Amino acid sequence: MQTYPDLISTPFDVLVAGAGVTGICAALAAARQGARTVLLEPRPFIGGNAATGLCIHTYKTREGRQVVYGLAQEIVDRLIEQGGAVGHVPLPSGYVHSVTPVDADLFRMETTAMLARAGVTILYNTALVDAVSHNGQVEKVLICSKSELGFIRARTFVDATGDADLAVKAGAPARTGWPGGGAMQPVSMMMRAVSVDTRRACEALSEFEPAWATKRGCAQPIPVYFHGTFSRWNEELRKLGIYDHDDHQFWTNTVWPDQLNINGSRLAHIDGSDPLALSRATVELTAQLQKLGAFMRDNVPGFENASFLPNAFVGVRETRNIQGLYELNEDDIRVGRRFDDTIGQGCFPVDIHHPDGKSQEHIDIGGDGAYDIPYRCLVPQGIHNLLVAGRCISVTPYAHGATRNMAPCMTTGEAAGVAAAMCAAQSVPTHELAIGTLQGALRDAKVFLGEELAGAA
Ligand SMILES: Cc1cc2nc3c(=O)[nH]c(=O)nc-3n(C[C@H](O)[C@H](O)[C@H](O)COP(=O)(O)OP(=O)(O)OC[C@H]3O[C@@H](n4cnc5c(N)ncnc54)[C@H](O)[C@@H]3O)c2cc1C
Repeated sequence: MQTYPDLISTPFDVLVAGAGVTGICAALAAARQGARTVLLEPRPFIGGNAATGLCIHTYKTREGRQVVYGLAQEIVDRLIEQGGAVGHVPLPSGYVHSVTPVDADLFRMETTAMLARAGVTILYNTALVDAVSHNGQVEKVLICSKSELGFIRARTFVDATGDADLAVKAGAPARTGWPGGGAMQPVSMMMRAVSVDTRRACEALSEFEPAWATKRGCAQPIPVYFHGTFSRWNEELRKLGIYDHDDHQFWTNTVWPDQLNINGSRLAHIDGSDPLALSRATVELTAQLQKLGAFMRDNVPGFENASFLPNAFVGVRETRNIQGLYELNEDDIRVGRRFDDTIGQGCFPVDIHHPDGKSQEHIDIGGDGAYDIPYRCLVPQGIHNLLVAGRCISVTPYAHGATRNMAPCMTTGEAAGVAAAMCAAQSVPTHELAIGTLQGALRDAKVFLGEELAGAA
């Protein structure tokens, strides 16, 4: 049995920092390429935002053409077998064609098992706190575990921290928030409601046609996704001081007949990369949700016998984005642009919660409803053995509204993992990796199916 000092003193091929959906896919993909891979995660569980009860968005364009496959699809297929997902369910009158609810705990359990089978070393309770780099190469990263500080070396690194912590510590350029002031989308905390009559709750709350799914063992279809506002109760909510505005929007999802994940809280002006601000948000959002739960139990049909469980941590939508070799921008999204160095596609609409915390907008993707994600968005300027994936890739705030969602995060995570393993095996700098070889490996991994590899040779 290897000791902890031995483990961290032997260099890895690939080090992935952060085990949200992005880091999970990056580490899995790297290990499946044969790379000796370590995954660092400060929390005692993996999943990041996906551990909070969110619905994965989205695999299909508005017209219903699936463009997201690979590990993102494999995970859903495995969850369906476990009863933790119901597939891609049409949303008849929503802002997306289909929704993909998953159970957060089964997601964590299934992906933990997948990582173990692939041979990934997961270091829980371990944060990356610094990086040592020379001449554009990250040599090692400083980690803080429960018991000590220590260095880990790797040949290639993947930053999947959501906040670009590794890239910034390594000296790569990054932008924090929106240009001209650093505004960021607000943070929210998810809440799980149990012992809910979900059908009555849906009838009372849904302002659009909900998504229904049938599931093995359930006598009736389940309302697996619905959304609306609390407009009917604005006066009551104002009295309770829950929101500082009217018509607050909420979204719910579930794969169970008697439980709901509720996205209905919000706090503005919080920098999610600042531990003090996040700590204050944790206290304030927990209190906001305790009040919301009490209000729902007293007022909303279907919740009379419910218990409400605010999540243990705050969900962060936006902090830093690296400046990579290409910055995906508003025009690329508006026209659904194709790129020769595509590593996959995204199709979730631009989803921007305004930094003032009072409104939100969804804007459709142009063209045929999908845009390519160029490999260059994953390659930071100036650092040659590092790739960045997920929420913090090189995109403008507008494009970030589309790329920050989980399906594109899994796509960039998988591509970064495959690319990192190749760079480590071939001793190639990330910006010199042959794009055709990477795309070939992604095609083998079924990331691309059908015509999605539009720009590739
Ligand atoms: C309230 C809310 C609602 C959302 N709704 C949806 C939705 O309905 N559908 C959808 O698809 N997307 C939704 N999103 C967006 C989506 O959930 C996230 O953008 C996505 O999950 C980001 O994945 P990630 O792995 O890049 O980052 P994260 O999920 O943030 O994971 C980053 C991981 O890195 C770890 N980490 C952080 N710092 C360090 C460090 N220094 N060292 C090591 N590890 C570190 C963290 O602990 C975490 O586990 C929502 C986001 C929020 C906040």
